[in-house]
Amino acid sequence: MPDPFVRFPRRTLLEGVTPIQRLTRLEQALGGRGVPAIFVKRDDLTGLGGGGNKLRKLEYLLGAALAAGCDTFITTGARQSNHARLSAAAAVRAGLACELVLTDRVPRDDEAYRRNGNVLLDDLLGATVHRLPATGDALSVAKQRVQALQAQGRQAYVVGAGGSSPTGCLGYANCAVEITRQEVELGLRFDQIVVPNGSSGTHAGLLAGMVASDDDPCRVCSYTVLAPLAEARADTRTLSREVLDLFGADHRVTDDDVVVGGDALGEGYGIPTKATIDTVRLVARTEGLLLDPVYGGKAMAGLLGDVRAGRWSGGHKLLFVMTGGLPGLFAYEPAFRT
Ligand SMILES: *Cc1c(COP(=O)(O)O)cnc(C)c1O
Repeated sequence: MPDPFVRFPRRTLLEGVTPIQRLTRLEQALGGRGVPAIFVKRDDLTGLGGGGNKLRKLEYLLGAALAAGCDTFITTGARQSNHARLSAAAAVRAGLACELVLTDRVPRDDEAYRRNGNVLLDDLLGATVHRLPATGDALSVAKQRVQALQAQGRQAYVVGAGGSSPTGCLGYANCAVEITRQEVELGLRFDQIVVPNGSSGTHAGLLAGMVASDDDPCRVCSYTVLAPLAEARADTRTLSREVLDLFGADHRVTDDDVVVGGDALGEGYGIPTKATIDTVRLVARTEGLLLDPVYGGKAMAGLLGDVRAGRWSGGHKLLFVMTGGLPGLFAYEPAFRT
């Protein structure tokens, strides 16, 4: 298919295609025969600022910011936001200043959460951080910063939490095409491509990429780690339509096209369940791979729950997208004490 993405400005941050690997030791730990083949796409191996899924979005967000002549990049998130940390790193690489408006929306206040992990890295990367209480309206504060900078003759680009604007989602629409090309090289086709769903942009982008390539949108599914199920589904659907609108494509996305699981969420965003912690340990000890306790660990716990419940069988092939978030392990050190 013709590449629908070339007309959108892009600041390259990734070095080529991220690898796909099979997790045979994890499969054996789950029981071997009768267990589906489980693969991971290593979007944690994206070289800048510790890596993670937000860099794919930031390629298009920074592309748009630079094309608009901006000198500052502003975004919002929770205190331990991976998106904030990667925005800071990407802004450095692109020669822009970076401001982060971070809210205390996660009910944790221990030393590790307040100072380690992404908080440490935001500071190292030189970002200006504005901290708000849980109830703070981060996006309006970000917009006030735009005005204040404008009064000084500066120009800022703003994107909300997770970088999940339609422009940011182009990064994952593009990734859908990358995955289908890798499938051809590997000589296989995944039955299910699985991602964590936080601000919904990763799922929505992949879904839009599938629809734009005339592939099956239901091949992508997510487990919500943030919003309640109904809200996550509605947001994913709206966002995927907005991405397709950017292409100028006349595509429909129906409710049935948006497959989201609600079982992994537990008590809420940033609160790891027991299954999350167990899954992070299992994957570390079977594969030497590090998932994070807020996104990847939770979504993988959801996937393994479905595998154990027999939803997938021996002939199936699953692709779990590893989205990064390693600094979260350090911020959640107390959650791993046994
Ligand atoms: C942001 C994030 C996600 C979720 O991506 P969304 O596009 O916000 O749904 C998953 N994993 C990690 C590590 C993240 O930082």
